[in-house]
Amino acid sequence: MTLVNKTLDTFRLRRKSVFRYPMDPAPRTAVLAACFRQPRLRPNYPVRVFPQGWSEEVSAFAPAAIAAPREQLLKLAAADRPPELTHAAIALESPGDPMLSAVERERLWRAFRVPVFEQIIGPDGELLAAECEAHDGLHIEIPGLPWNGYRLELAACGCGRKTPRLTPVQPAERVRSAAAYAR
Ligand SMILES: [Zn+2]
Repeated sequence: MTLVNKTLDTFRLRRKSVFRYPMDPAPRTAVLAACFRQPRLRPNYPVRVFPQGWSEEVSAFAPAAIAAPREQLLKLAAADRPPELTHAAIALESPGDPMLSAVERERLWRAFRVPVFEQIIGPDGELLAAECEAHDGLHIEIPGLPWNGYRLELAACGCGRKTPRLTPVQPAERVRSAAAYAR
């Protein structure tokens, strides 16, 4: 590896963000995504990144919560013996992805029996929008996040925060906008 490549690699690593658990304190959490920086494993933030996804190693880590791209989380939920979680299942999405459907949330709940959270993540792991414990939309965490494809909720949230939230476009609205597009 040349020095330039090495420097670039270090730069990329520095640019990556650390995964942010939906609330404090974070339980033992396995993050199955390569876009995050590995946080120093410490008692008050026992979060570990497994860039390669689910493995025996993750199983041995015995996570209380898992954060993974939606497809991977749904795949784990569909396994014969889904991982036994005690705290949370966190679906990671990219900007513009459709939000979890009621059916997908139900599937995750049935498999894991823990609260489901959604987060929208940038390419280097930065948190763009996050669901809070009120489970009433995703708080926008950075100014200027495009919200096409979502509905914007401006009313104060049950968690006490007043930042705008992204919520799924209601089925009725989806039908209406599809009808408008067809004309
Ligand atoms: Zn909230």
